[in-house]
Amino acid sequence: NKMSTAQLRKAFIDYFVENGHKAVHSSPVVPANDPTLLFTNAGMVQFKDVFLGLEQRPYTRACSVQRCIRAGGKHNDLENVGYTARHHTFFEMLGNFSFGDYFKREAIRYAWEFLTQRLGIPEEKLWVTVFHEDDEAADIWLNEIGVSPQRFSRCGEKDNFWSMGDTGPCGPCSEIFYDHGPEVPGGPPGSPEEDGDRYIEIWNLVFMQFNRDADGTLTPLPKPSVDTGMGLERLAAVMQGVHSNYDIDLFQALIDAAQQVTGAQDRNSSSLKVIADHIRSTSFIITDGVLPSNEGRGYVLRRIIRRAIRHGYKLGQKQPFFHMLVQPLVEQMGDAYPELKAAAPQVEKVLRQEEERFAETLENGMKLLEAAMAELSGDTIAGDVVFKLYDTYGFPVDLTADVARERGLKIDEAGFEAEMRKQRERARKAGSFKVDMSKKIDFEGETEFVGYQQDAADATVLALYRDDE
Ligand code: ATP
Ligand code: MG
Ligand code: MG
Ligand code: MG
Repeated sequence: NKMSTAQLRKAFIDYFVENGHKAVHSSPVVPANDPTLLFTNAGMVQFKDVFLGLEQRPYTRACSVQRCIRAGGKHNDLENVGYTARHHTFFEMLGNFSFGDYFKREAIRYAWEFLTQRLGIPEEKLWVTVFHEDDEAADIWLNEIGVSPQRFSRCGEKDNFWSMGDTGPCGPCSEIFYDHGPEVPGGPPGSPEEDGDRYIEIWNLVFMQFNRDADGTLTPLPKPSVDTGMGLERLAAVMQGVHSNYDIDLFQALIDAAQQVTGAQDRNSSSLKVIADHIRSTSFIITDGVLPSNEGRGYVLRRIIRRAIRHGYKLGQKQPFFHMLVQPLVEQMGDAYPELKAAAPQVEKVLRQEEERFAETLENGMKLLEAAMAELSGDTIAGDVVFKLYDTYGFPVDLTADVARERGLKIDEAGFEAEMRKQRERARKAGSFKVDMSKKIDFEGETEFVGYQQDAADATVLALYRDDE
């Protein structure tokens, strides 16, 4: 019973509606009124104030298919795209929520019943983890559900205590993994080999119990609640009998389209996967009202677009191609997201403009970078090269690092930062630029300085920060 991604979206909502949940449409990827968060990174984001008791809704159970971006902030998977079988910058999170209604027992029962009964996934393919101190959840899994202790482990805070960001709702969690079989390298969760891709996390059940404030203090929520999140693409991979998310129906269609518009020879090139990933994140970010710019969300958008364009260039496509993937994306996702369909002409235009803009400097920048790599004696690209690419050719630092990584090289980040400081100093002395620290991008307090971007339009030197997970 191979189910399509579209059928799975519906099966999930149907199941939870049958169980008394209110189906709520996805909120935008730009969170409403939440300056602490760069992008919506989970299904619970639109319900944050409900968990905190600040907002009342006419229902206490909800379910959704939420469009999410993890390309900055606390949950950042940008560097994983093209390297793992399971990470995207954009993905859809299936979730069910209880606002002070049911708690651990029902959350666990619903999840298990949906996977094993409704979808018919064999129990012995699943592995369960709980937070190491959570005896209550362990008891429900082992003694009520009857999960085998052979496929069960207790894990620490890093994986089994979930938070939206540095502040906000959080709590211990219990996760369900799917075993893709011994052909795939990797060990079960909690084991030393767990970093492999054999056991893939599909569903996280968070028992929301606390609000974390800025100094780290945990305050109990008004009512214990439930927030779950399951990656639609990972579930689709399971149901379609494939290991990689990129082999599911939806991604295969996008990869076909990407191959066509880039003229790539090798259909298995990871660049095609990156492009297929990036057309989703960039199209939805633009749909939800962000434009490419040199700061904040707009700069995240610009960085993703430029990375995609560079991958097209690597495949041999030097003409604008990226915007041509908007229509194929609408064919795949327009029914589930009418807002994408409606915004498509605008999305195409914005992408095309950004492609034309970057095309002016990409080729020369790549020549400079290729020459620098050819001459390299060690394994680190010098800071002044990274700076020149950034300053003169519009190469975001992470784009240069992405090229370097493909060749097994690194970039000298400290050297780059030193160049940025020098430039700032020159600018200050010349008196023609002002340093505007108020534009510091620091959404979650977990940011690392990466340099400054000179904004030609208003001759302001903007501080740019990059987030590290
Ligand atoms: P992982 O450990 O694989 O990085 P996670 O623990 O960071 O996942 P959660 O924050 O628990 O993920 O999110 C809930 C679910 O969302 C995950 O179980 C997974 O199915 C899905 N998910 C998380 N990150 C991604 C991503 N970058 N791309 C696709 N699906 C994702
Ligand atoms: Mg993760
Ligand atoms: Mg995890
Ligand atoms: Mg998780």
